[in-house]
Amino acid sequence: MRRVLDSRSRPLRDLRISVTDRCNFRCTYCMPKEIFGRDFAFLPREQLLTFEEITRLTRTFACQGVSKVRLTGGEPLLRRDLEQLVAMLAGIDEITDVALTTNGSALAGKAKTLKDAGLTRVTVSLDALDDQTFAAMNDVGFPVARVLAGIDAARAAGLVPVKVNTVVKRGVNDHGITEMADHFRGSGHILRFIEYMDVGTTNGWRMDHVVPAAEIIAAINERWPLAPLEPNYAGEVASRYRYRDGAGEIGVIASVTQPFCSACSRARVSADGKLYTCLFAAQGHDLRALLRSGANDHELATRLRAIWSDRADRYSELRHSNTTDRPKIEMSYIGG
Ligand code: SAM
Ligand code: SF4
Ligand code: SF4
Repeated sequence: MRRVLDSRSRPLRDLRISVTDRCNFRCTYCMPKEIFGRDFAFLPREQLLTFEEITRLTRTFACQGVSKVRLTGGEPLLRRDLEQLVAMLAGIDEITDVALTTNGSALAGKAKTLKDAGLTRVTVSLDALDDQTFAAMNDVGFPVARVLAGIDAARAAGLVPVKVNTVVKRGVNDHGITEMADHFRGSGHILRFIEYMDVGTTNGWRMDHVVPAAEIIAAINERWPLAPLEPNYAGEVASRYRYRDGAGEIGVIASVTQPFCSACSRARVSADGKLYTCLFAAQGHDLRALLRSGANDHELATRLRAIWSDRADRYSELRHSNTTDRPKIEMSYIGG
């Protein structure tokens, strides 16, 4: 394996692969209905990378130092036979971790199959515990109980601990922060609050919609005292805390108020095979064209190394309060 560093000496360690740009939710902060309506042109099937293409790409990334892969989307469980892809990726020697981020809507029926195929970890997004607030976030009225059933199924399948991601939007679901904390305290699962980010250009992001992580931690700490924990590894995006009474762990992802670009080691591949070196990038590098033009493994590896070596992204460190006027790729296309 040959490690590659970018222009800011950051290694390439993690790969996030979007397997579809479609979703059965319309979270207002990600796929607002006004844009992603009936007429929205999602990618046609032939433009999606096949499982074989994804596996070949992942093998090439693995030769450059990647050991962790996360499948995302859109909603990854909408991609048929996803467990086959999980098994193919888990079969790559250097890949030690195959994870999934899902809205949990179809997890109850699939958790065991995914675990049996080699999935190592699952993150379930859940923004509220009451149906009314959850509906205000996902905008399709999906019941909370079915997502909780998905989390239970993941636990039963041995995908533990389950991480639960909650995006906090001021005035919409911030009243439920302590209720979420209370629900997952002592469950063995790890709840993480995410600051609402200005990804894409369609969600109408404003700085005053962001609830800073420090405010979230202060609110929880007031009810149940917290103590900070060391990161599990260099470059971990969540700041970790433990409940002083022993009820487990909680985290915050402060991408807006405390950017972590200096340790960002993530590459992202969209469902149609474009490589993005930053969540906020305006343009990707077309790997599908290279794959389909018959490039050999050496040519593919050389291209990946050249792209990563050139990388200088640090968008969150440079962000200013009004960023939505700049072209940026949508979260549902690139994956979280
Ligand atoms: N559909 C899956 C899900 O929701 O978990 C996977 C894809 S989704 C784009 C990945 C993650 O990005 C989710 O946890 C979601 O809450 C988060 N996300 C989407 N838009 C966001 C935004 N504007 N700010 C912060 N997080 C966001
Ligand atoms: Fe779908 Fe996930 Fe985006 Fe919500 S955050 S619209 S569930 S892709
Ligand atoms: Fe990484 Fe870009 Fe996010 Fe900075 S803004 S942490 S470089 S994805």
